[in-house]
Amino acid sequence: MGIIKLQNLYFKPYINEEEIAKIVKQLAKEVKADLPKGEIPIFVGILNGCFLFAADFIREFNGNCEISFVKLASYNGTTSTEKVKQLVGINEDLTGRTVIILEDIIDTGNTLQEIYNIFRDKNLKQLKVATLFFKPDVFKKELPIDYIGKNIEDKFIVGYGLDYNGLGRNYPAIYQLSTKPKMKNIVLFGPPGAGKGTQAEFLKDMYNLVHISTGDVFRFNIKNQTELGLLAKKYMDEGNLVPDEVTINMLKAEVENNTDANGFIFDGFPRTQSQAEALDAFLAKKGEQINGMVALEVSEDILVTRLLERGKTSGRPDDTDEGKIRNRFNEYNTKTAILKDYFDEQNKYYGVNGVGSIKEITQRISQVFNTL
Ligand code: AMP
Repeated sequence: MGIIKLQNLYFKPYINEEEIAKIVKQLAKEVKADLPKGEIPIFVGILNGCFLFAADFIREFNGNCEISFVKLASYNGTTSTEKVKQLVGINEDLTGRTVIILEDIIDTGNTLQEIYNIFRDKNLKQLKVATLFFKPDVFKKELPIDYIGKNIEDKFIVGYGLDYNGLGRNYPAIYQLSTKPKMKNIVLFGPPGAGKGTQAEFLKDMYNLVHISTGDVFRFNIKNQTELGLLAKKYMDEGNLVPDEVTINMLKAEVENNTDANGFIFDGFPRTQSQAEALDAFLAKKGEQINGMVALEVSEDILVTRLLERGKTSGRPDDTDEGKIRNRFNEYNTKTAILKDYFDEQNKYYGVNGVGSIKEITQRISQVFNTL
């Protein structure tokens, strides 16, 4: 789940699919538990926003029921208006029936007021209201709400049926209004020895970004004999990847230590699909995103030569032994290389020829950076 843009506005992930499913299931359970045995309720969904909720709800309800809809409209852009219009009404005879309203969200209560007005003279046995979301801070009415899925703060949301100017209803999760992303976040990608670290040193100054190299952070921790360092060392020395959980937590801490950064150059991270997903989710929560993955493309034999050369001076145990170097490529090819597709699918992959002088390559990369 990344941030999304609808017309001029940005939205960040707020409530994911699994949580929504849980809330809907719980609501359906509560509603069912309160109904007398054999009672067949009529669920009335309030369109348009409720259509996904209503569909999921009655499947979870899993019992005899009828379903109908009324169509009301009260929103204009992101602000609730006082006037509620009824666009499609109720045709069924509801005399003596139990009607349960299915609302996607109740905020000011203007729509709810209108609902109570509509059903007042229909001779129902009872009227109950179930809402997926409720904004307690803005609710101004003294009207009963029988079932609430989740209380949420007073911020505009879209997704799972809810819209902004008609858009966004199709997203399976809920997104919250956010500000325009402020950061430039770039993943500098490529196999071991491609020159990511070398290039990042130039680029971070050119673009005023913070450079995070997970390899450097691990090496710093090993040098200082921290707990993290001791843990990472046994993987690194063999050229294996450090476990995801350890690496992801470390990366998050590095980002949190630089809250006022203009953006980051991520070097050596992500290296697995789950690291990439964790990074996307982590940034999206902040209303930020990865702008692009810039990959240095260099063939493997050139890389082995480069790494062995570097090993003469770098003091890195994983640079000196050809077997360990081969293992790092194996890790790269089996776990990391697939990230090209991951970013490509989001139209965020930019390949750059990584063979040439350091300066030439910096120029090639910066041509891409300038467009991101
Ligand atoms: P590097 O300096 O980027 O070549 O990283 C050196 C070593 O640090 C790797 O071979 C891994 O053992 C470990 N490492 C660095 N970044 C990661 C990562 N994102 N995930 C797992 N292990 C990593």
